[in-house]
Amino acid sequence: MSETLTDTALSARISDEIARRRTFAIISHPDAGKTTLTERILRAGGAIQMAGNVRAKGERRRTRSDWMGIERDRGISVVTSVMTFEYGGCIFNLLDTPGHEDFSEDTYRTLTAVDCAVMVIDAAKGIEARTRKLFEICRLRDIPIVTFINKMDREAQDSFALLDEIGSGLALDTSPATWPIGRAAKFAGTYDLRTREVRPHETLSQSDERMTTLAEELELVEAALPPFDRESFDAGHLTPVFFGSAMKEIGVIDLLDALVAYGPAPRSQPSESRVVAADEPDMTALVFKIQANMDPNHRDRMAFARICSGRLTRGMRLRHGRTGKQFALHTPQFFFARDRQLAEEAFAGDVVGIPNHGTLRIGDTLTETEDLRFTGVPHFAPEILRRVRLDDAMKAKKLRQALVELAEEGVVQLFRPQDGLPPIVGVVGTLQLDVLQSRLKGEYGVAIGFESTPYTLARWVTGDKAKLETFSMVNRSAMADDIDGDPVFLASSAFMMRRMAEQNPDLAFHDIKQIG
Ligand code: GDP
Repeated sequence: MSETLTDTALSARISDEIARRRTFAIISHPDAGKTTLTERILRAGGAIQMAGNVRAKGERRRTRSDWMGIERDRGISVVTSVMTFEYGGCIFNLLDTPGHEDFSEDTYRTLTAVDCAVMVIDAAKGIEARTRKLFEICRLRDIPIVTFINKMDREAQDSFALLDEIGSGLALDTSPATWPIGRAAKFAGTYDLRTREVRPHETLSQSDERMTTLAEELELVEAALPPFDRESFDAGHLTPVFFGSAMKEIGVIDLLDALVAYGPAPRSQPSESRVVAADEPDMTALVFKIQANMDPNHRDRMAFARICSGRLTRGMRLRHGRTGKQFALHTPQFFFARDRQLAEEAFAGDVVGIPNHGTLRIGDTLTETEDLRFTGVPHFAPEILRRVRLDDAMKAKKLRQALVELAEEGVVQLFRPQDGLPPIVGVVGTLQLDVLQSRLKGEYGVAIGFESTPYTLARWVTGDKAKLETFSMVNRSAMADDIDGDPVFLASSAFMMRRMAEQNPDLAFHDIKQIG
């Protein structure tokens, strides 16, 4: 009897904890203000004491998370980290994504681990190329989007025009949640369309010209624009829009309060066999990111896992989906803006780092006992293929091992030609090659160069086993195995690829591979 009561109390607690999780990412075009907004959000959440400490460019940002020289040198965020803070009774997990498009695969994988994305738009520039791309990624998974129109303290486009641009440009309904008071140098605050409050609270006098303009605009807003619709937001069809200035700290609290009010809380996660609801009692988790050698003095590998359901406790035994093996979870960790800490317990929506020696890979599922595999973490066919040239032949073995480790981490994709020639690496953006080169040198002491290949496309090939074998034999010089041993066809052109597909109607050529 008492056990039942305890169980009930525990499951109520788990539900409560999960309901107050908010796991999100910020997406934007470079320079729209993501870093500044992140910093303001963290400050509001008390995660850092002083604004200015998370600055990305130039200054020494994130001293501890600044793991790689290359990231520091280029002033770009290469690694994805997670920052946890508390605000308004909710636990927020803010997953940082690399700003540069060359690391879009990393960003994509991170977006598989969030429940919501905040889309930052520069009020003067509107929707820019990278915003659009990232938005499309969110749309693929119907991730709810909250829009923050930033830099309202500068010359901005007309607010209605901006909403229009989002509506028609992204095919996304907009519902303004706040409205700006004054513009550019006279931007003074926001008016909350729901509570009808003005922020900051030291209200302008009603006779102020800005308030008169506001009253006129509000009439139009209320007549022309749809009210917030929760269902539509949850489905990713409608975005609430906030106006603000990250720099002047206007609109940031509006945004956070909205995330507290309508979340969303952790979503259900699709697996091969069934959809797993966040409030199921059994713990399940999905590895979406691997980061090796975070501390150059200790060769360690951190797997970042998003908890998809239930409660994780330190020391619990877990089942590793890909191998079916059990292991004990001794040192799961939480990451704060500049610190990490052992995670004694964590709930669906949280992200924990799990140190390991290479057993965990991107896309892996962890459960208590159930044989489950989450879907949705993809590999994209690389757009650039290069052969690795080793300068010191004595280091061939070391290079092989390093390439596997870095490929498992998702730094590059690795293809081993079936004809035995040196390995080929595939990337989406050339900066990935720089990272590979610099990390091979820095972390493994292996100097490499790159040579061009005749290939421009890679496609995973599936189909009838015998037919696949014949195909591989005939096309041996263009066949390679990826890191999991899955066959890949390398083509010199899109034309060539199409011809191959036509000539082999029984085989399928994929530009995306689901991992897990
Ligand atoms: P990110 O590349 O998206 O991370 O953008 P940053 O946060 O680094 O901002 C790019 C530049 O815009 C920096 O010089 C910021 O100081 C500036 N900035 C960011 N937010 C605002 C804002 O609200 N108003 C103004 N005027 N400048 C801003």
